[in-house]
Amino acid sequence: LYLDRPLAPGQTVRLDPPQAHYLFSVMRRAPGDAVEVFDSRTGTYAAAVAEASRKAVSLTVGDRTRPLRTPPDLWLVFAPIKKARTDFIVEKAAELGACRILPVQTDHTNADRIRRDRLQAHAIEAAEQCGGNFVPEVADIVRLSDLLDGWTDRRLMFCDETLSGVFAALPDERGPWAILIGPEGGFSDAERARLRAMPQSHPVSLGPRILRADTAAVAALTLWQSTLGD
Ligand code: SAM
Repeated sequence: LYLDRPLAPGQTVRLDPPQAHYLFSVMRRAPGDAVEVFDSRTGTYAAAVAEASRKAVSLTVGDRTRPLRTPPDLWLVFAPIKKARTDFIVEKAAELGACRILPVQTDHTNADRIRRDRLQAHAIEAAEQCGGNFVPEVADIVRLSDLLDGWTDRRLMFCDETLSGVFAALPDERGPWAILIGPEGGFSDAERARLRAMPQSHPVSLGPRILRADTAAVAALTLWQSTLGD
């Protein structure tokens, strides 16, 4: 269970209503029952239910059982698509070890708003489900051009659907990276020209077929992890 506050042994934490409902009514946990908790800051802890009722559930935090395991410094930058597919992208990015998820508005993006809290909840669920103890942050949506204006030396795996052909190997360069996936309509010519000209950018093909953006995100994350991940 993910708790959005720094944890320490001996602490008593009162759960917020959705988590209290989940533990009491769905999981039917009673006082004394063991629960594993993590905070995405210090690690995973053994905890026990101290109080459980319809009104309140609180836990006593015990020893730390695992230190925090942070994924490599990899961002997934993507243009949101239909709701269910955007949810899928966020979930898979959390499972496949992105450390930050940044939705961007591009020239051809249809969705110019996102429900950040909903997407963050998907990232939390995915982290809980895959046994990790790190939750990637879902950032607010920004314009791609604004993001690029402030770009640092972070390397960019620019997934360019117009590069037909086989996947070109990524350079064996460790350090901060980002993967960029475009919208259903692809990147505009102006965006593509700018992205190709950036010295940090490594334009890549994900193969000879045009993939849907959600498939492309999974493929790119997997390829990056297999080359540069840990
Ligand atoms: N509308 C575009 C077209 O028909 O050419 C397709 C865009 S594709 C559905 C969405 C995004 O997935 C692209 O912008 C790109 O980032 C990524 N993508 C899909 N297939 C790819 C490929 N074969 N190589 C590299 N990137 C790909």
